[in-house]
Amino acid sequence: MILVYINTQNGIAKAACEAVTYAKKLGEVVVITNGNLESSSLESLGEYGATKVMVDRNFEGDDAQQVSHMIHWAANQSGANTVVFSHDLTGKSVAPRLSVKWKAGLIAGAISVPDANGVCKVNVFSGKAIGHVKVSSANRIISLLPNSIQPEKVGGTCSVEEVNSGAPNSVIKVLSTKKPEGSIPLPEAELVVSAGRGLKGPENWGIIEELATSLNAATACSRPVADIGWRPHHEHVGQTGVAIRPNLYIAVGISGAIQHLAGVNGSKVIVVINTDPEAPFFKAADYGIVGDAFEVVPKLTEAIKSFKANQN
Ligand SMILES: Cc1cc2nc3c(=O)[nH]c(=O)nc-3n(C[C@H](O)[C@H](O)[C@H](O)COP(=O)(O)OP(=O)(O)OC[C@H]3O[C@@H](n4cnc5c(N)ncnc54)[C@H](O)[C@@H]3O)c2cc1C
Repeated sequence: MILVYINTQNGIAKAACEAVTYAKKLGEVVVITNGNLESSSLESLGEYGATKVMVDRNFEGDDAQQVSHMIHWAANQSGANTVVFSHDLTGKSVAPRLSVKWKAGLIAGAISVPDANGVCKVNVFSGKAIGHVKVSSANRIISLLPNSIQPEKVGGTCSVEEVNSGAPNSVIKVLSTKKPEGSIPLPEAELVVSAGRGLKGPENWGIIEELATSLNAATACSRPVADIGWRPHHEHVGQTGVAIRPNLYIAVGISGAIQHLAGVNGSKVIVVINTDPEAPFFKAADYGIVGDAFEVVPKLTEAIKSFKANQN
């Protein structure tokens, strides 16, 4: 039995479907979550292979103490020997707590399903290398790196059971929350257009947004751009920002410093646009355009728009 924890604060996210798809490859899947998402939405996880969703409606949010208590309770209740969840911010804070409570080894940042010997590939050193990890404990926890697996619909149905895990009261009081703007959450985006200091100023981001809109992509930026206030902090990718693994990452006017690459080098295809042919980013690129962003980007956007128009 495989137990999957999903965060349903913003509905059924792509990361949840990925985690259920992943777990389905290991065995029968039961999901545990909390909060007030309606049962009809939770039932949709049956399409990805879950047979049951347990939901604790007695608390909301993703306080790691409460969530780790709930998962521990559900693991014992369901008889699971493996717990899977997304290697996102909640996952990273829940995983070590659960590991201690459940006396279970943790495979953090998995990018593959364990092989017949239980060996799983994980990203290490900010994606610069791949580790092969196996846990020796009877129970194991796997946190799955977002975008490592495509959600697969298998066409099943699942039941929803309301439970009370007895989670303790939260010691954290949330005073306010601010949601990132933009319709596509960066960690879930399959296409990302990102820009750096080469754009010269915030007033020039129109060409980046237009390119992103033409592709239906999310926007991102380098750290100095967020630090100076040209772009919001939630767009900052890299070692100290969000780590992403989109199918396509277009980097415009970004030099490709090691700290930036650490957050984006898991991208399937990298396209770099930079005036400097010696920019380090070209070494990590699948496709490179040596040229001025202010000339290249509008032309690229036009080309994409006319390609799409011809498709219709
Ligand atoms: C501890 C630590 C953590 C860090 N974490 C991060 C992180 O998480 N993410 C991150 O991004 N950085 C991080 N940094 C900063 C990082 O080292 C680099 O300084 C930063 O990534 C550089 O940002 P940039 O590429 O936008 O700017 P620059 O290095 O100034 O590069 C601008 C690029 O734009 C090009 N360019 C200029 N004009 C044009 C034009 N008209 N058209 C096209 N190209 C043009 C230039 O050739 C240049 O390559 C970190 C640094 C430290 C010390």
